Amino acid sequence: MLKVYNTLSRKKEEFKPLVGNTVRMYSCGPTVYNYAHIGNLRTYIFMDILRRTLRYDGYKIKGVMNITDVGHLLSDRDDGEDKMATAAKREQKSPYEIADYYAGVFYTDIDKLNISRPEIIAKATDHINDMIEYVKALVDKGYGYETSDGIYFDISKFKEYGKLSRLNLDEQIAGARVEVNSEKRHPADFALWKKAEPEHIMQWESPWGMGYPGWHIECSTMSKKYLGDVFDIHTGGVDHIPVHHENEIAQSEALEDKKTVDYWMHGEFMLVNNGKMSKSLGNTYRISQLEEMGYTALDFRYFCLNAHYRKKLNFTFDGLDAAKKSYERLLGVLYQHKTSPNSTDEEKLARYKKEFEDAINDDLNIPMALGVLWKMVREEKSKDIYKLALDMDKVFGLSLDKAKAVESDETESDIPDEVTALVNERAEAKKAKNYALADEIRAKISALGYAVTDTKDGVKITKA
Ligand code: AMP
Ligand code: ZN
Repeated sequence: MLKVYNTLSRKKEEFKPLVGNTVRMYSCGPTVYNYAHIGNLRTYIFMDILRRTLRYDGYKIKGVMNITDVGHLLSDRDDGEDKMATAAKREQKSPYEIADYYAGVFYTDIDKLNISRPEIIAKATDHINDMIEYVKALVDKGYGYETSDGIYFDISKFKEYGKLSRLNLDEQIAGARVEVNSEKRHPADFALWKKAEPEHIMQWESPWGMGYPGWHIECSTMSKKYLGDVFDIHTGGVDHIPVHHENEIAQSEALEDKKTVDYWMHGEFMLVNNGKMSKSLGNTYRISQLEEMGYTALDFRYFCLNAHYRKKLNFTFDGLDAAKKSYERLLGVLYQHKTSPNSTDEEKLARYKKEFEDAINDDLNIPMALGVLWKMVREEKSKDIYKLALDMDKVFGLSLDKAKAVESDETESDIPDEVTALVNERAEAKKAKNYALADEIRAKISALGYAVTDTKDGVKITKA
């Protein structure tokens, strides 16, 4: 039985889909005005682990993720310029070119990270009319009002405003910026639709003149369109709790007159050197930058899986190095299992499997599940263990089928000093571009029964 932590109740709850065996799930996607950084990607790894666990447990999934390509202003609370417009100016391109480019890089990143793509990916700009209809319906029900610069949601009409973040209205006001827009009835009222100045680069016709949608309305609109008025799970990062998701709840529940999402699940933040990760501080990294430094996307995935999704994760290169080493060692050890002639008895296998399932079903305790995997590969050596590891990998998504003969701590100690010395000599020779000498040394190494291979992650020594 899967239990998940529901932000709304602040409790772990038993998970049960609303209808049959299919889980309807919505995940807030990226705003494609810039590269996704590894913090953003941690949140999508969490989404992926959830999807994989649900599938492992036998559920079908209808998952929707949005791509925000309009309406997300520099502050989540509707202040500042549209992020897409800022990027368009910065790069001298149209917002559509910007969105295509960064969405493309995002897909490449998530593919490399083995993040399975949600069944439906919905772009905000493809749903402008749906959003206009949604705003109209809210206005008709008395929840929206017009000011000179847009249509706003009247939070005083929605009595449960704040129930997700459990902030009271005073705290909400404290979070809202000092008011520029005095026409708003309440400082925390938020834009459903913004009227556009003539020079604004993205604008559409609407009953309120030319304009563009607010950021929050896209998620209420697209989740309803693809998943229905009520669905099972909504995910996002913790930063979405106090504003974006609070506003989504207000919009959706005001329209439907009922609770629209059963489980709200949020991934904790990734920090850098225990502080905030942000582009302005220059301490963000992208997957391609990690690759240039010699790490793979899966090294980073492994790093993330070592922390529970509801715990802050501090990114350091020492931590990533350790994860890389441990991941490579895991692949090396699994290769020994793959090629082992031994078998393991059913009962033992069933015990490991149960421990693994208990871990993942306990609110996705992946660090614990990885612990089970490590324990099992240490206690036993057999082909059956390898097969069970592949089964577990349906959840981990670490490409454990790529287990290969790599240097691992287990074999490292077997490598004689002589061989290590030759490997170092060969590296020196290569550095000096003396390739003939390097080849000669390589031959000496193989004569000693070892093979040295150059991989993009460095030199590997294996027993030939
Ligand atoms: P954005 O593209 O800014 O809308 O963010 C995409 C996703 O990344 C959202 O779900 C955010 O909650 C999440 N996010 C932003 N910063 C971080 C971080 N440092 N660690 C983890 N998730 C983050
Ligand atoms: Zn959203």
